[in-house]
Amino acid sequence: MRFDIMTLFPDLVDTVLSESIIGRAQKQNFIEIKTHNIRDYANNKHNKVDDTPYGGGFGMLMAAPPICDCYDAIIKDSPDITSRRTVYLSPRGCRFDQKKAAELSKYDQLILLCGHYEGVDQRAIDLIVDEEISIGDFVLTGGEIPACIVVDAVSRLCDGVLSDSECYKKESFGENGLLEFPQYTRPFEYKDLKVPEVLLSGHHENIDKWREGESLKITKQNRPDLLEKNDEKD
Ligand code: SAM
Repeated sequence: MRFDIMTLFPDLVDTVLSESIIGRAQKQNFIEIKTHNIRDYANNKHNKVDDTPYGGGFGMLMAAPPICDCYDAIIKDSPDITSRRTVYLSPRGCRFDQKKAAELSKYDQLILLCGHYEGVDQRAIDLIVDEEISIGDFVLTGGEIPACIVVDAVSRLCDGVLSDSECYKKESFGENGLLEFPQYTRPFEYKDLKVPEVLLSGHHENIDKWREGESLKITKQNRPDLLEKNDEKD
């Protein structure tokens, strides 16, 4: 899968996505991530990419022309890709979740537009964006961190990125729609706290039963809305 990230701060994105599992997945060519500096498409003497909003109001808005020119260059650079989705990261968007990550992972190319300042001229959204996605009900200074979150969550679902490609099915928001059960590793005892006996029993049926019960308990406590969602599915 190929990700193209349009931003005014490419270094911010590159730094985050070049590390750990996502960095390794790029080196091994399981995914490709390209960042594009919108300022390179400013087309004016001072490389200006923002301006004051019509009608008045606070702050500056990112102008449409450099964003759309940047987008055109990305399309020109990937002429063979037919399955693509363009997303504007925005607090106005639909809330991002695991289901949306799975949906986006089916495309061959994901183009992400990061806003900054007070956001972007609506015409850029109307012209190039398929959907707006929010990472939560709060406002950040820019779309770069949200874009990294989307790339990370979607990449984990792409073939080869995780060493065991089935493991995401068994974690929070996996196939049973619940939160994950508690996990333990060595040492067996730490500060008077012992690993639950059942996990040492080697009895897989009992271990599965215990984990299922713990998953339910944690979900009920922290996210009862997920249980309601599961009930609706039944
Ligand atoms: N004026 C905008 C509003 O009220 O909706 C907020 C602009 S915000 C200060 C600047 C940029 O940060 C946005 O254009 C967007 O790209 C990004 N951003 C901020 N909060 C976000 C969120 N919760 N999810 C996704 N992107 C967000």
